Amino acid sequence: MSAWEDNIRKVVPYVPGEQPKVDNIIKLNTNENPYGPSPRVEKIAMDMEKLKLYPDPAASALVDAIANYHEVSSDKVFVGVGSDDVLAMSFLTFFNSGKEILFPDITYSFYDVWAELYKIPYKAVPVDDDFRIIKEDYHGENGGVIFPNPNAPTSIAEPLSFVEDIVKNNQDVVVIVDEAYVDFGGETALPLVDKYENLLVVRTFSKSRSMAGLRIGYAIGNPKLIKYLSDVKYSFNSYTMNMPSIIYGVESIADDDYFKETVAKVVDTREWFKSEIEKLGFACPPSSANFLFMTHESIPAKEIFEKAREAKIIVRYFNKPRIDNYLRVTIGTRKEMESFLSFLKKLVKDN
Ligand code: PMP
Repeated sequence: MSAWEDNIRKVVPYVPGEQPKVDNIIKLNTNENPYGPSPRVEKIAMDMEKLKLYPDPAASALVDAIANYHEVSSDKVFVGVGSDDVLAMSFLTFFNSGKEILFPDITYSFYDVWAELYKIPYKAVPVDDDFRIIKEDYHGENGGVIFPNPNAPTSIAEPLSFVEDIVKNNQDVVVIVDEAYVDFGGETALPLVDKYENLLVVRTFSKSRSMAGLRIGYAIGNPKLIKYLSDVKYSFNSYTMNMPSIIYGVESIADDDYFKETVAKVVDTREWFKSEIEKLGFACPPSSANFLFMTHESIPAKEIFEKAREAKIIVRYFNKPRIDNYLRVTIGTRKEMESFLSFLKKLVKDN
């Protein structure tokens, strides 16, 4: 290594699921929503001339639309480029005590990457043998807490009382609840925001709102938290939200009927698919998300992953301790899941 490399910030980056360049595949690997954005979004004629201008640095139209949707004041809302951006800013803003922050050992694998990037000490707290988070493990002294609810990739949701217990026992630090998947069956912690000024709830348009390509995420919390977060954001990049994302985001959140209808379809397909695969010897925890975390009684997950790929069906496999015999399978359309089911039936029969 050259001497100049000694002082480089070296990181092992997060590796997102693959976005294949070919069309004729069934893509069940990155928890997108198969139904696409509201038809109202398509009808918006964007004035391209406007792109010569910088977007509104505060993304006020989008902030107001989100605030209005959740019936909170706009000073409780922060928006970012996907919830990844919101979370990255939150790590930078809130986790500075020098003490270990806590998150589950089986969880969104970006958390340890941000902790490493910002040199935040952290402890990955083991979930139990059923992949459940143990709330008492978060009661001791720490530098902050973050966990998804429902958790990923396990799909397991915990009730509001569980979340409140963790927030209540950590009032000297910031607690972040990552609700990327909450619309598919979880219980939101939003009602706690007025009660606990140290709670930040993070959401995304990428899953239930079917707009992963636009990159919209947001956080809801006490105005003081939002101000601290905004100060860091404005010290980093004034214009994180681009103009089309602001315009399309506002339109999409206005179409609540479409949102509810597509979420219900995903949930229906999930429950049907789960009952079908259980007949084939698969098991998965009860899912409150738009994916299943599944394992087979005899066929190794890696083998299923590889064979599915050959059949042009892409699911997610994590070659990591404790979960290397599981697949995380996004719920696609009924037709896509029927194809995957046929593939699994044949695989099980031939084994
Ligand atoms: N949190 C969790 C738990 C996730 O699974 C994801 C999706 N990779 C994200 C946050 C980030 O999603 P996005 O940046 O698209 O909002």
